[in-house]
Amino acid sequence: MKGRVASGVVHIVGAGLAGLAAAVVLASEGREVRLYEAAGHAGGRCRSYFDAELGCRIDNGNHLLLSGNYRALNYLERIGARGTLIGPEDAVFPFFDATTGQRWVLQPNRGRLPWWILRQWRRVPQTRATDYLKALALRRAAPGAVVGEVLDPRGALFARLWEPLAVAALNAGVNQASSRLFWRILVETLGRGGAACRPLVPRTGLSETFIDPALETLQRLGAALHFSARLRALDLSAERVSILRFDGGPVELAAEDRVILATPAPVTARLVPDLVVPERYSPIVNAHFHCAAPPHSPLFVGVIGATAEWIFHKPQVLSVTVSAADRIIDLSAEELRSTLWRDTMAGYQIPAAPMPPVRIVKERRATFLASPEQLLRRPRAVTRWQNLLLAGDYTETGLPATIEGAICSGFTAARCVLSHELRRREAMRHRARPRATAGVQHRRTQKANLMR
Ligand SMILES: Cc1cc2nc3c(=O)[nH]c(=O)nc-3n(C[C@H](O)[C@H](O)[C@H](O)COP(=O)(O)OP(=O)(O)OC[C@H]3O[C@@H](n4cnc5c(N)ncnc54)[C@H](O)[C@@H]3O)c2cc1C
Repeated sequence: MKGRVASGVVHIVGAGLAGLAAAVVLASEGREVRLYEAAGHAGGRCRSYFDAELGCRIDNGNHLLLSGNYRALNYLERIGARGTLIGPEDAVFPFFDATTGQRWVLQPNRGRLPWWILRQWRRVPQTRATDYLKALALRRAAPGAVVGEVLDPRGALFARLWEPLAVAALNAGVNQASSRLFWRILVETLGRGGAACRPLVPRTGLSETFIDPALETLQRLGAALHFSARLRALDLSAERVSILRFDGGPVELAAEDRVILATPAPVTARLVPDLVVPERYSPIVNAHFHCAAPPHSPLFVGVIGATAEWIFHKPQVLSVTVSAADRIIDLSAEELRSTLWRDTMAGYQIPAAPMPPVRIVKERRATFLASPEQLLRRPRAVTRWQNLLLAGDYTETGLPATIEGAICSGFTAARCVLSHELRRREAMRHRARPRATAGVQHRRTQKANLMR
């Protein structure tokens, strides 16, 4: 642990991934961190819990990482949990088409030059190498264009690759999902070669990988963690936040204290006047079947032409995800169970069997809708109040609302705190210096700030 730096307390509200990422960076830089969370536990939308009815632990959703998610991997390095992820050595994506019964494994080669599209056995069946090149149209698409307008929806490649990838990564249907954001995802993953596309999942569960080690790290670094601490209001003057009002009582801020609000968009918009945030959301439905997968089953399977989209094989559970789930969100749990169990048996080649115990989880507001209009509503980390910063997957990260996006937002807010302090210290040093050297130093500082 580095020596504590005398530079005010950083109050972080919300212990989801964004708040935790900010807290881990700042505490490891020696800042005094206080983390407040409304719930009795950390993790927000990315956590595991024991489901008493099912009799086992389940994850709040199936969160797939890719080896190119360098911010998430950096976070896991910082909390010592990088080794809790498992996945194949190479980028391999098993798919099953429920309408034809066909199975294939998408296998991009490791390097950046995508020669895999020239090998029939590595690419999607019934596609040609030239079909893949047409995705370059996304790069030149108008800011307001959606994926379904830019890519030709009639071909096999669209139905079997671009659509499932876009829906999973952006949690939006192809007629709503921003083509620019999809391009960004493709650049960060397939664009960097198969080495950046190795699928990774937690060995045990989301909390064991992303949350528990972060809390242990924060405790070790001396951060104060407050659970069941719901922020109700902020006292704001024209320039700064002066008081945080929690259910349990007010917290007065000293002159050098800073606040990072890492609460979800609707909560933040209620706390901060006139803040523009995304206002439309997209649902995700998950079905967790308490049963074992057949031996040698893959970690996950992408399903085409069915209601289930991705099925994950976890300890004691087969777990199904349906993103952008507006079309099924109002179906009864009974209907969802039987449809998704049928798809799971087909996807994992399970012989006809009675349905195991199942938990259906409907998240109506799983993420904000990644449409071109909603992207324009994402706020930046910096606010007009000099000691107030924002973090969260909905902020302007340039990424979709994902683990990677949430961690990126937390890192950005932490960087803003650290660079503000650096500037303040430079200014103080500058004031303390004799005039001639101060002028030189000022120019040097300006240059360094520009380069940062
Ligand atoms: C079902 C589902 C499936 C998903 N699948 C994937 C996936 O496959 N891959 C992927 O990368 N991402 C996935 N995501 C998205 C990912 O989980 C989120 O983007 C990420 O967890 C958001 O983190 P966050 O910190 O921004 O927000 P949150 O996790 O929402 O954290 C905000 C925290 O603030 C707390 N809070 C709220 N109000 C207050 C208050 N007034 N005072 C104090 N605390 C407060 C909340 O309790 C919460 O802990 C999925 C999400 C869901 C819901």
